[in-house]
Parts: sequence; C-alpha cells; structure tokens
Amino acid sequence: MSALTTTQKGYGTAHQRRRRQWATVVARGEAVCVRCCRAIFPFQPWDLDHSDDRTETRGPAHRKCNRAAGARRGNKKRARVRKIRSRVW
Ligand SMILES: [Zn+2]
Repeated sequence: MSALTTTQKGYGTAHQRRRRQWATVVARGEAVCVRCCRAIFPFQPWDLDHSDDRTETRGPAHRKCNRAAGARRGNKKRARVRKIRSRVW
C-alpha cells in the first residue's frame, strides 16, 4: 500500500523486488544466511546482504550477522575486542 515510502528513503525498486522474493523464502523457513550459513527462521529479523562495495545483493542474512560483519570491518584497527571475548563463559 505505502510502497512508495521505502523507495523515497533511498532503496531502489530492484532491491525491493529481490527482498520481497527472499521474504517468501524466509517465510517458508528455507532461507540460509550468507554470513553464517545457518537457517534463517521466519521469526528472525533479517537483512538483504550486499557485497562489500554495495553494488549487488548477495542474499539474506540474519540482521545480527549483517551488522556484525559491518562492525568487524570497522574494528580492524581495534585488536582489543579479542581480550573482551576471551573471558570465561
Ligand atoms: Zn547468520
């Protein structure tokens, strides 16, 4: 109904079409995350992942995986993340 609003925010119609196609796959529980290679369940938030230069879409990814990948790129200079991770569970 209000499909135009998303376009106005900067997403192209091609992106929207692909996302809608993937939404069908996710709804069936058949989607696989391009980041962690695990299933994306219909109740999990997900994003349509892009290649690093953002020129093409790669497929669906868990929202947290997609964001973690972006954070990792930004964290390359900060090695201290490892210290935090090594604490006992
Ligand atoms: Zn994932």
